[in-house]
Amino acid sequence: MSKFDFAPMPTAEGYFGEYGGQIIPPELKAIMDDIDRAYEEIRQQPEFQQELDSLFHDYVGRPSPVYHARRLSDKLGGAQIYLKREDLNHTGAHKINHCLGEALLAKFMGKTKVIAETGAGQHGVALATACALVGIPCEIHMGQVDIEKEHPNVTKMKILGCKLVPVTRGTATLKDAVDSAFEEYLKDPQNYIYAIGSVVGPHPFPKMVRDFQSIIGNEAREQFLSKFGKLPDYVTACVGGGSNAIGTFTAFLNDENVNIVGVEPAGKGLDTKDHSATLTKGKPGEIHGMKCYVLEDENGEPMPVHSIASGLDYPGVGPQHSYLKDQGRVDYQSVSDQECLDAFMTLSRVEGIIPALESSHAVAWAMRTAPTLDKDTTILVNLSGRGDKDADYVAEKLGL
Ligand SMILES: *Cc1c(COP(=O)(O)O)cnc(C)c1O
Repeated sequence: MSKFDFAPMPTAEGYFGEYGGQIIPPELKAIMDDIDRAYEEIRQQPEFQQELDSLFHDYVGRPSPVYHARRLSDKLGGAQIYLKREDLNHTGAHKINHCLGEALLAKFMGKTKVIAETGAGQHGVALATACALVGIPCEIHMGQVDIEKEHPNVTKMKILGCKLVPVTRGTATLKDAVDSAFEEYLKDPQNYIYAIGSVVGPHPFPKMVRDFQSIIGNEAREQFLSKFGKLPDYVTACVGGGSNAIGTFTAFLNDENVNIVGVEPAGKGLDTKDHSATLTKGKPGEIHGMKCYVLEDENGEPMPVHSIASGLDYPGVGPQHSYLKDQGRVDYQSVSDQECLDAFMTLSRVEGIIPALESSHAVAWAMRTAPTLDKDTTILVNLSGRGDKDADYVAEKLGL
């Protein structure tokens, strides 16, 4: 037997080693256990599987291609870089994979409303899209400060017909939006369902979101094998909460010869307070109903974090990533805002692909590493999303 066996995770109680679980009041635990039972049953139903499969194929446009970035690889003069093109999905990123799964689960469970929070609005737009398609009402809570910053996403959510609830309490940002959305959810958990935006929160969310996203790695592994007759030597993805990364990594966890690298935002530097490298600089703690690595301030409160990519600035991280770090199965590295910007511009100008700033972190790690490897070595990068949303910001920042 292989020395790796990471497949059957988490435990029935939602633990990945010591991480995960349900750090929530007993009433809420009963609700989460109901969702888990329904999920385990519904995911086995052929009607559910067929509907999700056909939406992935005909609506999202799956499978997304694996593309050999030849010009980028030649320019760097080392390993060959391949991109898993999640940026080509409908709505432009990987988030649609789990949002469709969650919206469809809500429909199969007979729920009447989907509730969620959103920070920069990416999760909100993907969820509003999935809910419009599935035909289920959707309510999104968003901090007033974020609403003012993220105009295009706010407009899209309105067009897609979701109810947008501005949150003005506290700092009027993501954390307050989570609290507000959760309060609304707890008013009627029988009829509503909460749709979390990454592999975080209490069990069963880290598992469910991982399962819906694991199509990325399942496809990529098969595509790579059938094209080249071998697996990639390295597989990499950026890590915020960790959904695109775990979705990419899951299929490869038991392949001992595949090196897996998660890339966190080092922001303005790991020695400053302006980063969001939770696994690199944090320690085990609790946040949002789970145990995981957390970045904390001197008072043990979650630290205000920073990344040039708003989708990566979260002071916690998925419990499975926390476990994979301790096990040494995944190597977690980090990339600064500056390296991210360089990768954003290089991929745009050498390959004609404008990547999301989040995804640019994984590209930057591949660009840093490729020159140290020989030409037969292969690096598979998950390109989690496209950079249209970041184009104006980058152009202004670089004075283009
Ligand atoms: C939201 C987002 C991320 C970060 O979320 P994960 O859960 O860590 O994947 C990464 N890339 C893009 C394009 C995103 O929109």
